[in-house]
Amino acid sequence: MKSIAINPDRLLDNLYELRKFGQYKTGVVRQMYSKADMESRHWLWEQLVQAGLDARIDGLGNVIGYSGKSLPTLLMGSHTDSQPVGGWLDGSYGVICALEIFRALAEDPDTAHMSVDIASWADEQNTYHGFLGCRGFLGLLQPQVISTAIRTDGYRLEEALLVAGLDGNSEQFVPDRYLGYLGIHVEQGPRLDIAQKSIGVVNQIAGCREFSVSFFGESNHAGSTPMAMRHDAGMAMMEFVSVLNRRYHQLATRQSVWTIGQVALDPGAACVIPGRAVMTLQFRDPSEKQLERMEQVLWQMTRAMHKGLKVDIQVEKTIDMPPVQLDEKVQEVLCQMASHHCPDQWQVMSSGAIHDVALFSRFMPSGLLFVPSIGGVSHSFDEDTSEEDLIAGCQVMADAAVELISQAS
Ligand SMILES: [Zn+2]
Repeated sequence: MKSIAINPDRLLDNLYELRKFGQYKTGVVRQMYSKADMESRHWLWEQLVQAGLDARIDGLGNVIGYSGKSLPTLLMGSHTDSQPVGGWLDGSYGVICALEIFRALAEDPDTAHMSVDIASWADEQNTYHGFLGCRGFLGLLQPQVISTAIRTDGYRLEEALLVAGLDGNSEQFVPDRYLGYLGIHVEQGPRLDIAQKSIGVVNQIAGCREFSVSFFGESNHAGSTPMAMRHDAGMAMMEFVSVLNRRYHQLATRQSVWTIGQVALDPGAACVIPGRAVMTLQFRDPSEKQLERMEQVLWQMTRAMHKGLKVDIQVEKTIDMPPVQLDEKVQEVLCQMASHHCPDQWQVMSSGAIHDVALFSRFMPSGLLFVPSIGGVSHSFDEDTSEEDLIAGCQVMADAAVELISQAS
């Protein structure tokens, strides 16, 4: 087994340098196509060029560095855009690790010939359209997205691209070029931190189903309408949620999660009985069977509660992403490197969060590593990981890259 020498100081310096774009306290505000985001993309482009990559910023804002070395190539990437309240490592860690690994490979005569491409994919954080950049790269982007996607405040993707000087056309991947895809990310959950482990080798990514549930009643005066005569859509929604929550607790596996992330009452005034209520329901689990069970409960409840609640209920499925099993051979290599560098300090685990790796795994063998998020905190300015774990993760990934390229050559 060949181990290459990454440069821990360079890895950390680059992470701190990237954080300066949109920095707020110890986190970042770097939403897709914002000034800070575009400046960070140009900075990253410069770093890739200096490292010796043929780098470009494509028409969606993807920053991609192509290696000019002999095939086969390993593709490594993540994202550098952030949530409105963003952690400094979410995505950035994966991109900067890839850059460090590229440099470390180039500096070692034994590995200098090895080919690695690097990417920061546009809009992974769903400011306009989730996974916009890698969907474009993989040919999965619906053509109407560019003209229809909007930010929550109504600002249009088309306008944002225009302001950023981008034409909306992305680079297209060449399947024969790649032997696989490798990502590393902060866990964004508490499991590694609680278990006091440094590395997680991800075996599967949870599936996700999302629904819009609407309740239709009758608006009326909140003072003069007797309780018995009401068709209160808001109250019906809350009863529905309360029963659903109990049913899901009875049904849940250790990995089932469910969220009512958005609710709206119409007209939404203190003195008016809501005539309409809308909520999102999202649930996730690594098992397709469990997702199916959770969906069946939703439909059963919709039928059963329809009459009792004196309102109409409409359910529409908006997202259906199946669980993803990651490549076993790539996992084997990641496990081997994790046990070499961090004996007893690593574990195999599933991911509740969806990552670009899930999309790439449809096209090539793909793998994903996690490092701990202190306190399980993410999508927060307080998100952090110890320097020791950041370095360990990069080292494991670097040696896994060497092994995967060697095996494929
Ligand atoms: Zn992320």
